[in-house]
Amino acid sequence: EQFTQLGIGEALTAALLEYGIDKPSPIQAEAIPPILEGRDVLAQSQTGTGKTLSYLLPLLQKIDAEKKESQVLVIAPTQELAMQIVREGEKYGAPLGIGTIGLIGGASAARQIEKLRQRPHLVVGTPGRLRELLSTRKLKLHEVRTIVLDEADQIFQMGGADDVRGLLKGALRDRQLIFLSATLGQDVRGLADREMRDPVDVGI
Ligand code: AMP
Repeated sequence: EQFTQLGIGEALTAALLEYGIDKPSPIQAEAIPPILEGRDVLAQSQTGTGKTLSYLLPLLQKIDAEKKESQVLVIAPTQELAMQIVREGEKYGAPLGIGTIGLIGGASAARQIEKLRQRPHLVVGTPGRLRELLSTRKLKLHEVRTIVLDEADQIFQMGGADDVRGLLKGALRDRQLIFLSATLGQDVRGLADREMRDPVDVGI
């Protein structure tokens, strides 16, 4: 199976090839089509399976680069993971004219706020900093069409439940939701039950 057969376009496929990625991993083959369709997706996935690109590729594909709007929000438990996602977003998004920003604690908020004014298409961050920027109205979520929780179980374990609730409340009601988690415990399932609409289960 090829990326193009899953609905990934020529530009992204060419960018992937430059990094030696020519075949979708199993989770990518499962997750890319429903994400492209706009469905909610609940994925059980470990690190190292290609989980990041399983959501980034279809979401980059769907972003309208012509519009200066923040269209996708990715929430990650740690600064390290958030910056890893930012690097992937830049790598594959820049050739499509897609701007990415990382909003993490421990880095200068002033610089992040300055960069946010340009309305980067893809916003990636940790729960606390995102929530802080939302409550001070530096971050606006009314144009966000998709919210991703990466390593959702970790986000809960690190006490991010409240921040995630706040971020979901600040977004549109009919947004697409994508949760990825190594384990699907009560917290993650509960949030999915409450917030998702007819989710597609992947890797379960
Ligand atoms: P992740 O599971 O997202 O942490 O990805 C683990 C590593 O696999 C990253 O270095 C990716 O660049 C790489 N990768 C992702 N998808 C593929 C693929 N389809 N084929 C080969 N390598 C991949």
